[in-house]
Amino acid sequence: MMELTRLVQSAVSESSWWERQGIDCTILASAFLSLPAGFLLLGFSQPLLFALGVILMGTAHAVITVKGTHLASHGALSESRDWAEFWAMFFIEVCGSFTAEAGIQAHVKIHHAHTNIIGLGDSSTWRIPFLPRFIYLFLAPLAVPVITPLVALGLLKDQSPGGALRTVCMIALGIYSQYWLLLHISGFQCPSSALLCMLLCRALFSLPYIHVNIFQHIGLSMFSPNHRPKRIYQMTHGVLNLPRNPLLDWTFGHSLISCHVEHHLFPFLSDNMCLKVKPMVSKFLREKRLPYQEDTYLSRLHLFFNRYQELMVFAPPITDLVGIQ
Ligand SMILES: [Zn+2]
Repeated sequence: MMELTRLVQSAVSESSWWERQGIDCTILASAFLSLPAGFLLLGFSQPLLFALGVILMGTAHAVITVKGTHLASHGALSESRDWAEFWAMFFIEVCGSFTAEAGIQAHVKIHHAHTNIIGLGDSSTWRIPFLPRFIYLFLAPLAVPVITPLVALGLLKDQSPGGALRTVCMIALGIYSQYWLLLHISGFQCPSSALLCMLLCRALFSLPYIHVNIFQHIGLSMFSPNHRPKRIYQMTHGVLNLPRNPLLDWTFGHSLISCHVEHHLFPFLSDNMCLKVKPMVSKFLREKRLPYQEDTYLSRLHLFFNRYQELMVFAPPITDLVGIQ
């Protein structure tokens, strides 16, 4: 791991600001810049223009709330600590309707630190065993935009009163400003149709969002908290990359799609830097005869549909890696 870390660190120090942060910040800025066109298109009654508005608004929302919140949760959007904190609050709370404190705790401090360790970072929050497979994979994700702020409210009890109040204000600001713009820019007459349109746009990428979250860890090696493997074994056995996909690379970011292994090994890297170090990381792991796991989106979907009971309902078996360390 030290050897690989040195290689990656030298690649980072040789990279320009544009490569380290500029490209990803530009993608996020372009999502914000496309919002006025999205609100205007949603005001048209012609089905084609309205559908274009839903696609534009939904795509911008996914870029901001998936790629943006993920990079912000890792502090990868700025090298300044204060700005990193500000971006985490802005992306996770205002845009993502979730609490920054709980989001960072769950994603960075639990999922990343304890990837595939049973009872800690084993992706169990993504399992809803009582739901049948078709409902879980293809219908329930559509409720993500409604469930997210409700779960956030339930988690506020663990925050300080001041922090909880700030989170409620930030979430309300994000939801109300989109609703207000739908009424005043898009021209929705009825509040319920504006809310419905908001949900439609926010749910546009909910299916791949849930799929990607389960595809890249569940079904891979699981570890006992009492026999944790070395970090490089944990990440190479418990993380999988999906192939590059122009739509998901853009909306979710490389670190969640084709560079998830690189992201788990080096979570401080931006999406573009994960892509840059990918050839170096994959070559290193193959030379050291470590797994570099890859599978296609459709193959994973097929696997989860056919083995839903085993992967998503029953407890996963523990893989003992002690022997190969
Ligand atoms: Zn992450």
